[in-house]
Amino acid sequence: MVSITDPFKAIATWFSTSSKGKEIITILEQISKGNFSYKVKIPSGKEDDEHIQILKGLELTLRELEKLDKREKRRHKQMTKANKQLKQLDKNKREFIELASHQLKTPLASLRLGLDVLERSSRNWSDRDKQVFSEVKHSYDHMAKLVESLLETVRIDERANMQPKCQLNSAHNIFTIMEKQFRSRFEAKGLELIVEYPIESLRIRTDAGFVVEILQNLLENALKYTKIGIVRLEITEMKNVVEFRVADTGIGIPALEQSRAFEKLFRASNVKDESDVGSGLGLYYTQQLVKRLKGKIWFESEEGNGSVFYVRIPKDCVT
Ligand code: ADP
Repeated sequence: MVSITDPFKAIATWFSTSSKGKEIITILEQISKGNFSYKVKIPSGKEDDEHIQILKGLELTLRELEKLDKREKRRHKQMTKANKQLKQLDKNKREFIELASHQLKTPLASLRLGLDVLERSSRNWSDRDKQVFSEVKHSYDHMAKLVESLLETVRIDERANMQPKCQLNSAHNIFTIMEKQFRSRFEAKGLELIVEYPIESLRIRTDAGFVVEILQNLLENALKYTKIGIVRLEITEMKNVVEFRVADTGIGIPALEQSRAFEKLFRASNVKDESDVGSGLGLYYTQQLVKRLKGKIWFESEEGNGSVFYVRIPKDCVT
């Protein structure tokens, strides 16, 4: 009976003994090493020798691969250069914004001083004077806030680029920090804050600083955009992740605008008129922090009925 391995043995013997076979092996080795500049040794012989034809075919393939490889290396070099230029541009942009905002702060401080001095003599003003003064002061406040926001965008980009430092943390402790920071502020506004503490043993290996900032931003918004009702902070442990939830009974985000909520400087149409205290940077920044922790953030919201923000992060931080 003929063994199935016989033809393979014959091929293997040919490759290891004949000079053409050895050359083919060498070519394949060079290709696997990425050395496409290898020049194939084509022995003299009959043009129609099928092994010489194979070697010539491989020589052509190698030349094509060499061309592609050179093109790829050129493109990689260009990309690296473009990337470097982009980073430099970004740095220049940040430095410019920082410098411009700082420069603006000086005349703003003088303006503030002037306004305070003027206000001291407001007792003798006519109603018209008072109205003009109030408009000027309003414009001043707006301008000061814009400058602060500009500086904040720079700070945020820098902070969001920081690498998280992961350590074992107690979820219970993080909730205690939140409760201490927010309870009295919620009470002062007549809102109920419910903190659903996890079991004491729940530990997460994460950057607690990042998590605290994420929850602070979400609770800050819940406080800002809720007039009556309850705000709830909860956590659920799952297989490899934990899910934080901040739910409020506030004004909600209009359905048509929800897809833009995490964009820089986004402010929904239902807050623009009634609240002047926001920069539209909080959610953008929060999302950057969540991404740094390799997590996800999303929300459900109904205008007039409240919002629930969800943050899911790995229990064991992967950076
Ligand atoms: P801001 O400083 O304006 O609060 P954020 O980036 O934190 O900036 O939020 C962006 C916008 O998303 C807010 O201006 C507001 O319109 C909306 N928003 C965020 N959180 C809530 C919330 N809990 N309830 C209602 N609207 C919210």
